[in-house]
Amino acid sequence: MASLRCPCGENFRTETDDELVEKVQAHLAEAHPGRSYSRDEILMLAAMS
Ligand SMILES: [Zn+2]
Repeated sequence: MASLRCPCGENFRTETDDELVEKVQAHLAEAHPGRSYSRDEILMLAAMS
């Protein structure tokens, strides 16, 4: 189980790290154009949350 809370308040919860990275990158592209995180950065944020 992987989860991450975007600073905008959106919550993401997925079964695998791969899905989480995919979901968060899609959300960034849609809701926060111009901001992007690498897979490593997303997983690091997820580990802290
Ligand atoms: Zn967001």
